[in-house]
Amino acid sequence: MPRITKKLFTDLAIWMIGFGLLNGAIFPFFAHMLGMQSEQVFTIIFWAATITAGLVAGIINYTLAMLVVRPRLKILAKHMHIVKNTISDANFTGNWSNCSQDICRVEADSDDEIGESARAFNNLVEALFQAHKIETAVNDFSKTLSSQLELDILSRQALDLFLQYTDAKAGAVLIESAGELTVIAHHGINNSKLLAKSDYIRKALRTLKCQRVEFPENIQIEAVLANFTPREVIVIPLEFKNIPLGIIVLAANRIFDKDITRLLQLFRHSFGLALNNALAHSNLQRIAALDVLTGAYNRRFGLARLKEEFNRAVRSDIALGIIMMDIDHFKSINDTYGHLVGDRVLSQIAESTYRALREGDLMVRYGGEEFLIILPGASCANSVQLAERVRRIIAETTVKDGEQYINFTASLGITSFPENNVEGELELVKHADNALYTAKNQGRNQVVLEPSCINAKIN
Ligand code: GH3
Ligand code: MG
Ligand code: MG
Repeated sequence: MPRITKKLFTDLAIWMIGFGLLNGAIFPFFAHMLGMQSEQVFTIIFWAATITAGLVAGIINYTLAMLVVRPRLKILAKHMHIVKNTISDANFTGNWSNCSQDICRVEADSDDEIGESARAFNNLVEALFQAHKIETAVNDFSKTLSSQLELDILSRQALDLFLQYTDAKAGAVLIESAGELTVIAHHGINNSKLLAKSDYIRKALRTLKCQRVEFPENIQIEAVLANFTPREVIVIPLEFKNIPLGIIVLAANRIFDKDITRLLQLFRHSFGLALNNALAHSNLQRIAALDVLTGAYNRRFGLARLKEEFNRAVRSDIALGIIMMDIDHFKSINDTYGHLVGDRVLSQIAESTYRALREGDLMVRYGGEEFLIILPGASCANSVQLAERVRRIIAETTVKDGEQYINFTASLGITSFPENNVEGELELVKHADNALYTAKNQGRNQVVLEPSCINAKIN
């Protein structure tokens, strides 16, 4: 119907009353066609009566339409206002709890266009709610992770958030370094080391694409990965500027939501950024702690680590072995072959020594060509064994300079706490240095125990 005014109900009144009047006006012609006498129907009174009847019918129709439709529209409009105000408030206060499902919903109780409008409005509010939920989750996620530079803590926190927002029951974070994947954090997984070998995981890292793997409900999977039977596993590659950094694996005992991948894409972007920062930070820390020529810890960092290890040894009543090592006649190597060759010899000695150490042992470049070796858990006897191995390996190592093969040896002094029951870690260093001095005096290329180690051996 064409619009007459700007108000729908005024238009409705005009159309209904107009139609009533028209009905009243043409009614006498129908009455005449149906057999009434023209003297009876074409009179002013009859016309006035039918027009009045048409007018009254129009007015009644309009009133009924107003009574049936208008209140429902009013309720709809009023609710929409309440919803709009509640959402506006929540936007400013950040508190969306006032906008619960009941408040932020209009009643959609009719099966027509008005009901349809109400339902469409509710869907709109629901979409807004979801958008807000995702925005809050992503903000929360980014905020928590952006300030964390320690790789272990970052991975732990990120995994907790991934588990919380996806309802996954188990998961793990794996970091890639020099082609190797290492599990940094895991939850609810039986054998996390197996994860690094999974084809799905390697494929996700290679292609930088998420992998979703569904397991049929009736198939019992051997519980290698999780403490429960997973229905779906998602593998999410982590990257920064297309450089693979690692993987997140999430497993659930049901199928994940359809839209979960979209949320995970947002999360993985934030995590990739935070991970890149943490990796850069740990690289910087590593660089600051290492001696460039030998790759051993520098003296400052080494002494700090020694203090930590000594305190741990005292606290936990475990042994701490110390070796002080100095290259024999190194000055003459420099004098004969030059400083650069001397540098190569030094770096080769550090590499050979490092090969002889166990996991957890620390090598520190203490001075020019002096190394301090820290052996957590090593008694005097353990330390001697290791020192002998280092001495032998160094004596067997050669460095080539043109046609020349350069051989060298080292002297080593040893002590160990608590057999040597000192008060502080620097005393241990001093005692090991004294033993080294004895080794030099006794002819070099040998291992010498500090007296309390010898006494411990005799007793
Ligand atoms: P000893 O058997 O008594 O230890 O004799 P030595 O010649 O090794 O004597 P000492 O340990 O006192 O000599 C240290 C020498 O190591 C002196 C120094 O020129 C050399 N040196 C120290 N740091 C470096 C380095 O970074 N590169 C090179 N090429 N030489 C170094
Ligand atoms: Mg020397
Ligand atoms: Mg020296």
